[in-house]
Amino acid sequence: MERLKKLELGSSVQYLKGVGPVRARKFKKLGVETVEDLLWFIPRRYEDRSKLSDLSSLEPGKIQAFLARVVSVEQRKARRKNLTICTALLTDGTSLIQAVWFNRVGLKSILKPGSRVAIYGKIEIRGGIKQVNNGEFEVVEEGEAPENVGLVVPIYPGTHGLVQKWIRRIIKETLCLLEGSVEDPIPGDILKKYGYPGFFQAIKEMHFPSSRENWLAARNRLAFQELFLLQLGLAIRKKSYVKGNRGHKLNTEGSLLNSFIDRILPFELTDAQKRVFSEIKEDIVKDIPMNRLLQGDVGSGKTVIAILFMLCAVDSGYQAAFMAPTEVLARQHFKKIDRWLAPLGVKVTLLTGSVPLAQKREIYDGLSKGRISVVVGTHALIQDNLSFKKLGAVVIDEQHRFGVLQRNILANKGEQPHVLVMTATPIPRTLTLSVYGDLSVSIIDELPPGRKNIITKSVGKDMELELMAFLREEIEKGGQVYWICPMIEENEDSSITSAEKRFSHLREFFKNKRVELLHGKKNYKEKEQIMKDFERGQIDILVSTTVIEVGIDVPNATVMVIEDPWMFGLSQLHQLRGRVGRGQKQGYCFLFGKTDDYDGRRKIAAMCSTNDGFKIAEADLAIRGPGEVCGTRQHGVTDFSVADLLRDRKILYSARKEAFSLVERDPWLDGFPKLREDLLRKLGDKLELVITA
Ligand code: ADP
Ligand code: MG
Repeated sequence: MERLKKLELGSSVQYLKGVGPVRARKFKKLGVETVEDLLWFIPRRYEDRSKLSDLSSLEPGKIQAFLARVVSVEQRKARRKNLTICTALLTDGTSLIQAVWFNRVGLKSILKPGSRVAIYGKIEIRGGIKQVNNGEFEVVEEGEAPENVGLVVPIYPGTHGLVQKWIRRIIKETLCLLEGSVEDPIPGDILKKYGYPGFFQAIKEMHFPSSRENWLAARNRLAFQELFLLQLGLAIRKKSYVKGNRGHKLNTEGSLLNSFIDRILPFELTDAQKRVFSEIKEDIVKDIPMNRLLQGDVGSGKTVIAILFMLCAVDSGYQAAFMAPTEVLARQHFKKIDRWLAPLGVKVTLLTGSVPLAQKREIYDGLSKGRISVVVGTHALIQDNLSFKKLGAVVIDEQHRFGVLQRNILANKGEQPHVLVMTATPIPRTLTLSVYGDLSVSIIDELPPGRKNIITKSVGKDMELELMAFLREEIEKGGQVYWICPMIEENEDSSITSAEKRFSHLREFFKNKRVELLHGKKNYKEKEQIMKDFERGQIDILVSTTVIEVGIDVPNATVMVIEDPWMFGLSQLHQLRGRVGRGQKQGYCFLFGKTDDYDGRRKIAAMCSTNDGFKIAEADLAIRGPGEVCGTRQHGVTDFSVADLLRDRKILYSARKEAFSLVERDPWLDGFPKLREDLLRKLGDKLELVITA
């Protein structure tokens, strides 16, 4: 008992009475290592077992709970091997019932005649007598109340061999031991303002609800707490960019920028692009480093914005770095940026993993001495031994591919450069606020003029010939086709068509057209040759896997066929669709092949119903959950126990408001030591928070 008295939230569950190393290991599989984890081990659902019936009023066919005394017990072996049957006769004075368990050796010694037993199970009639088979049971000591019937009981998620009623017992005992000793991390005035119950009260209510209203208040309070903590972390991180970090004021009226806009840019910026660029300009004329997320659907013209931003740095005597997620993309961006900036005399360089060593050295030297103004590259840009002379602007494209935290590595190569993070996967606002809550957000919500909505259709495999006829017509009109398959090669799962198989079919079918195959296993030279030929319009149909997913820009491509589309993620499908309709011609997207899979059908329906990336993103969040959508799963920032970013929008907004205003008043939470401790313990590493009191 001594060790239990000193129970602390950080103690390992192993030291709880009745747990020990074996069960502690099972708990660990459930994500429960400490007493605090146990408190936050939230039931998946609840069963209302509050009604206890007399034996005489039990209704056959229904799952019910009752309390009765054991009259007699017998255990026997069935004729069938390995089957032990334990039968107990029970009464409560109103009637009799027979309780039967199979293969529960040892029950006989627990169910002593005269003892009280609570049972929960399905009531049946066998040979004229009431019977319950394999009911959940509990021996109830004299004078005590049952723990698993007579109330609403929690049902815990996937228990890895731990028994529900045992988990209930452990949690109940732990709650008893902790009563009165758990401090509430949330400031009292906030609780009061929202009418939330105290922390311990809320936790108790989650495990053993007393009423629907109390449970709901508790649930909302805990959701608030999770969101509040994350928002606090983000607020502090945002504050730390600003505090003591002097950035560089950039010139936003420089000559390079102006001649680029006047002489080189072949089109007028859209209103959305203009708005976003002025948001950026407002930031970078200050000496506080910018940290801005630029969201915009595929083809909305983010790259141009990035170029304008980088030119401001170069105009001011600084260097700029542009990081793309893949080599193909880096190269494409490089070509475009170089083509546009070379006439202005701006030196642009490409740096990827496949650049030969000697050349790499030369680039490293150019960057550290400042000969190179703009560098475009991949992860190669965040190598340890690479340094810049004066890095003033960082652009990170397709942020979600890099993970939330990697952006800092590149930013740290300069002295507080301004950072622009771009993503073509629009993220629902709730998620933006949670994952990128420390960044300012700009949105391009308008496509360049003349873009038509892409016509999207779901087409069954029985329509293959019609589809082919349509493709032939499009090609004859001068259009080009992408045909995407989920896999390169054939495998055992013959229901999925591989890119190789489709490629040979199409070659066969379109004898006088040029059909090519592109996939990740081809070497770089081959890939580049094929892409070049496709860009020049020399290839009619390009069969591929998702290597062409992001960024590829061929305005003449009008048709995107995605075969077995349910195999892809929803945002991936949307990205792929964005490859067509980039020019003036009508674009088409065919989702070829149907499925019975529920999520698969939801994806296809979402694609057919909208072209709006933000709507797609909402649907994606609903199907996959936040961790997957942002690629933050490994960081766990959005792995909440209670909060739900789809449902708890309002709670999120209030949590954010309160957190940011608290950090405004008390930046390092000096007045809230418990809150600071919880924050650092839970999110310190994940958010890379450094708080020095
Ligand atoms: P994103 O990176 O957002 O997918 P891009 O910057 O690659 O989009 O732009 C897509 C295409 O639209 C490019 O060919 C680009 O040159 C063109 N574009 C961008 N902005 C405009 C504009 N305001 N008017 C016309 N075309 C534009
Ligand atoms: Mg792009």
